Amino acid sequence: MAGRGTRRLAGGPGGSVGTVVWALTLAAVLFFLPVVTVGGNGLYQSGEEEPEATLPIDRVAVTTGARDKGKVVRLQLEDGTVQEMTMADYLWGVVAAEMPASFEEEALKAQACAARTYTAVLQSNSAGKHPDADICADSTCCQAYVERSQAEARWGLNAQSYGEKIDQAVAETDGLGILYGGQPIQALFFSSAPGKTVDAVEVWGNSVDYLKSVESPEGDEVPNYHSQVLLTADQVKESTLTAYPGADLSGDPSGWFGNVVYGESGTVSSLVLGGVTLTGSQVRSLFALRSAAFTVSWDGSNFTFDVTGYGHGVGMSQYGANAMAKEGKTFEEILTWYYTGTEVALLWE
Ligand SMILES: [Zn+2]
Repeated sequence: MAGRGTRRLAGGPGGSVGTVVWALTLAAVLFFLPVVTVGGNGLYQSGEEEPEATLPIDRVAVTTGARDKGKVVRLQLEDGTVQEMTMADYLWGVVAAEMPASFEEEALKAQACAARTYTAVLQSNSAGKHPDADICADSTCCQAYVERSQAEARWGLNAQSYGEKIDQAVAETDGLGILYGGQPIQALFFSSAPGKTVDAVEVWGNSVDYLKSVESPEGDEVPNYHSQVLLTADQVKESTLTAYPGADLSGDPSGWFGNVVYGESGTVSSLVLGGVTLTGSQVRSLFALRSAAFTVSWDGSNFTFDVTGYGHGVGMSQYGANAMAKEGKTFEEILTWYYTGTEVALLWE
């Protein structure tokens, strides 16, 4: 779920090939969200009146990180071996892998909470994805993870300051996660939105109360915010017929794409390609577009896809979180903005 250069930044499966399979898996997960026992009262449950003298959360929450340090995560690495580490060390590696460390502290804290919540949900699911581990380091399956030494080598001169920023993001959100109706949520995230996030129902067909379309403030400051994919008619034909053998692409290419329907977020909900109706997400996967927010045109020799944003568009936008943090928003405000109707509270005591 992450990317510099060609690596992906998007949360969850932002890739193309595995997207459909993943989406089906996700649909299953969303429907069978495990029941997790959440210990006691969260520190900052919404609707709860706080005493006037209460300090801002980022001042109060400076802790020793004891909750995360007292919890073990069994992580399956890329080579298949399983490594046990504390939740604190694991989350450090996830935040470092999933979000640029140059981002604002509050954005990094929001990312730490999303990653902690995602992990807690998997840990509570006895019939998890991995028989010998809680979670794996493959971003197309679970969430990305990078070892500290590797991340620091990549950061060069910034290694110490970036490392400490992430330590702080994890420690200052110690044990905190995102809950809806008292249960940890499926904390999906992605890189950047085309103005609004996407309702989960548009991507996977299942409505989820806290995964609704909301405005997202990022824009042209995002690297490669606008991207283009150029394909010849033959390339479009070959990809389409491989995936959808029933498509009829015998006529003039100018008539292959039609009936493009846009959703409320500005992403393509559906279109018809060679007589086959596809979702925007399927088209994104088929032609390896960075998102489903695109237009397509034919100039007589090539199809041009003009794409905005990066990732599946559902849940928290990472660049949006950074833009909100720059506006002075706290990690709690960021999380409850992107995950509708949720609260930030302790996942365990
Ligand atoms: Zn996995």
